[in-house]
Amino acid sequence: MANKLRVSNIRHIEITDQLFGRYVSKIAETILPYQWDALNGRVDISDSHQWEALNGRITEERVSSCIDNFRIAAGEKQGSHSGAVFQDTDAYKWLEAAAYCIEIGKGEALRTLADDLIGLIERAQQPDGYLNTYFTIANPEKRWKNLAEGHELYCAGHLIEAAVAYYNATGADRLLEVAKRFANLIGNVFGPEEGKCKGYPGHQELELALVKLYRVTRENRYLDLARHFLTERGKVPNYLIHELETSKDFRLFPEFSNYDAEYAQTHLLPVEQKTAEGHAVRAMYMYAAMADLARECDDEKMKQACKTIWENVTTRRMYITGGIGSSGLLERFTVDYDLPNDRMYCESCASIGLMMFGQRMNLLTRDASYYDAVERALCNTVLAGISAQGDRYFYVNPLEVWPDNCKASTSMSHVKPVRQEWFSCACCPPNIARTLASIGQYIYGEDDKSIYINQFISSKLRTNIAGTDVNIQMDASYMSDGCVRLMVESASSHSFTVRVRIPAYFKTPVFRLDEKEISPVVENGYAVLAVSRGGVQTFTLRANVEPTFFAANEQVRADLGKLALMMGPYVYCLEEADNGKNLTALHVSYDSRIEPDQPLPDLPGSLPTLCYSGKRLSQQLPNDQLLYGTAQFSFSQVKLTAVPYCLWCNRIPGEMTVWQKALL
Ligand SMILES: [Zn+2]
Repeated sequence: MANKLRVSNIRHIEITDQLFGRYVSKIAETILPYQWDALNGRVDISDSHQWEALNGRITEERVSSCIDNFRIAAGEKQGSHSGAVFQDTDAYKWLEAAAYCIEIGKGEALRTLADDLIGLIERAQQPDGYLNTYFTIANPEKRWKNLAEGHELYCAGHLIEAAVAYYNATGADRLLEVAKRFANLIGNVFGPEEGKCKGYPGHQELELALVKLYRVTRENRYLDLARHFLTERGKVPNYLIHELETSKDFRLFPEFSNYDAEYAQTHLLPVEQKTAEGHAVRAMYMYAAMADLARECDDEKMKQACKTIWENVTTRRMYITGGIGSSGLLERFTVDYDLPNDRMYCESCASIGLMMFGQRMNLLTRDASYYDAVERALCNTVLAGISAQGDRYFYVNPLEVWPDNCKASTSMSHVKPVRQEWFSCACCPPNIARTLASIGQYIYGEDDKSIYINQFISSKLRTNIAGTDVNIQMDASYMSDGCVRLMVESASSHSFTVRVRIPAYFKTPVFRLDEKEISPVVENGYAVLAVSRGGVQTFTLRANVEPTFFAANEQVRADLGKLALMMGPYVYCLEEADNGKNLTALHVSYDSRIEPDQPLPDLPGSLPTLCYSGKRLSQQLPNDQLLYGTAQFSFSQVKLTAVPYCLWCNRIPGEMTVWQKALL
């Protein structure tokens, strides 16, 4: 483990950023209390389509019964299970987010609520360690009988992640003991030994959670179990398909009737997979676990597989917003360059999974470039998934919206033109909360000799490098002045380095140390800044950060002849509120002069809006009542205003588009 790269401890990171800090400060104050209300049935589920698809078999209720299910499983309330079979994870992710809030010093007010919930979870655990409210209440005899759909192992994974986070934050091991009891039971049921079940999670998540449990307990059996699941997956005959064929009397999801091996990434052994296939969240959680295993076990073959898959995702199957999952049906990957903008999935959770995968690839390789996609996902899709107020959410993150055609009971019904209060499948809201509450882990990394700056989010870090206390204050004002300032305070003259990722949007970067220009070497995408004396030294990175139009690879049919505007890591979009209806009539020039303008009022951060001139196409038929006819075309000059995609739909709802037609 000597000198292995690790993420910095979020306990010692304070987020001061105008944009991200606003969300982080809201998590404990308003976001988690709101989500707690939702988990307790006090917020209406607004996504009725999803409700019907997932839960028509269970209940007519239009509120979450997440916490009630634990009460019923604990024998403290009468009733039947209600909601999706994986709904327990909403509570676990809420707890994990609460743990991070406590760890960063913002969540003490949540402590009593969290401890009460932990007590309830403990009481819902069965005497043998089993813990899943759906199977305990509704189908106790069907335990482990439907791994493809049942989500028991997925739920176990989120329980473990919450338990590890809560233990790290508080030192209290009550939930950790609950998680270990369940993990031990799973280890007794599943494994390579004769007589044990050779199944594996239908929805991956447990694998990466077991690695976390191993790291906190140092018990090899958890790492071995994670490795076992990733070794067993994809073997022939296919366990999940065989299970579905032989258990036709117990099915949970009608849409799984044509289940294929790729959907859950069981078409090949994970080490042999080369392209991102199937359900995007399942895929990302598995790849993250593969990267974990490659690192823990120095598994070169696994590492190569991760690199190959990462390359496929980020160069052929990822949206400019860091969204992934092109198919609205089954939330999955399709084929290279298939990136439709209005009917995709781009689930918030999938982009969070991409962040997790990228972070682990960076830890595995020390290559800064993995953080490019992490940043793309974070600054665009993940942030867009939550409203500025923190109480409305996107599950699906389109790059183009015409609200009128987002119609229920059609192929567009999964796309919502406005953020929703809550979902029947509510995986995304608490996932966004836990990600933002622990955002520091994506900003800083450390080894024995260096501190790594991976994201440019204003913050402070306290740490210790090789016995020397070090404080770093990062002021990232690059979106307004092209600058990132790093004030590095070292307690002694012991030398170390600060390694700063240099993303492509920093054009012609110039570094200064205390006003004197320096020329740091660049290693693995990091500029290496040497700190060789005690006291305070200020490094300044100044670069041109200019709004730029991007085109897609010409194989991306949906984007051919179109341009998307970015400034720094932020994708910009046009909204109806600024640019009128029928955004598809608008055309822009590659060389349009783009002027940064005032930020949107009352929204987080101070990201500028971007103004430029464009043309609106008029296509006049002989009369307006005709659907088809001979047209007269004309262009009129218009002023366009683009806003950060991460903040879209925080004003008047309406049309939105990221890709704009190019005038060529
Ligand atoms: Zn989700």
